[in-house]
Amino acid sequence: MSSDLHTHTTFSDGKLTPEELVCAAKKAGLKYLAITDHDTVDGIAHLYENGYYPAKGIHIIPGIEFSAHHPTQEIHILGYQVDIYNSELADRLNEVTEARWTRFTEMVEKLQKLGYDIREKDVLTVAGASKSISRSHIGRVLVSKGYFKTVRDAFAELLQKGRPAYVPHYRLEVEDIIGLIKQAGGLAVLAHPKLVWDDTIVERICQSGIDGLEVFYPQHNPEDTAHYLALAEKYHLLPSGGSDFHGFPTRYPTELGVFTIEDRYAEPFDRPEE
Ligand SMILES: [Zn+2]
Ligand SMILES: [Zn+2]
Repeated sequence: MSSDLHTHTTFSDGKLTPEELVCAAKKAGLKYLAITDHDTVDGIAHLYENGYYPAKGIHIIPGIEFSAHHPTQEIHILGYQVDIYNSELADRLNEVTEARWTRFTEMVEKLQKLGYDIREKDVLTVAGASKSISRSHIGRVLVSKGYFKTVRDAFAELLQKGRPAYVPHYRLEVEDIIGLIKQAGGLAVLAHPKLVWDDTIVERICQSGIDGLEVFYPQHNPEDTAHYLALAEKYHLLPSGGSDFHGFPTRYPTELGVFTIEDRYAEPFDRPEE
């Protein structure tokens, strides 16, 4: 069997609903599946409150993916086994959601001033159930209106840092995120360390009380994987990994079960059911 500890649903910027994701994971024969939406645990709460979690035949691991504040680098921190009803966690996530909302409105205004025919409603339609509205939702609207061929093009021209429609957004600091995950009973993991593009930052985070390192990741080549596995060992961190599945054809992998990790790496993130 195999496992996946990094996936997204419609509750952030993924294509599948949490229940569709669980079905796809079962079909792919996964043993452990972690759902790690951006800045929200609502997808997990949705499964739980509708009786889909815990599920038969698969171990669902509740997770989340935070974006940390950093002046130059893109740093994501994954949290596993957080108590989704933890009040401190809920309060901080509400702050982040509110800030995303303001940011999205500001970005739409900027695009309108630049002459693009885009309205808040268009983005909300694309975002659907997601409370975690992001630039990729805006990018998808611009693609559907024929302004760009791909979301990536829209980012390069307008939406990424330094481009005309970019608005910086409120993020928590790395240390705050790790503390928040831990006080909610979870394990904190540094996501896709290669995408940090600076190993001195990676090593500093490895020593900041974090529990794991995402060693296995689609964009890591065999040398990267060996390198991060060695780092995990050096700092006594749990090696984790996942596909970062979103379900869109532009992102690899397009299907669950294509990129997986060995179960023995996923096991420490599971919580035995009472
Ligand atoms: Zn990420
Ligand atoms: Zn992700």
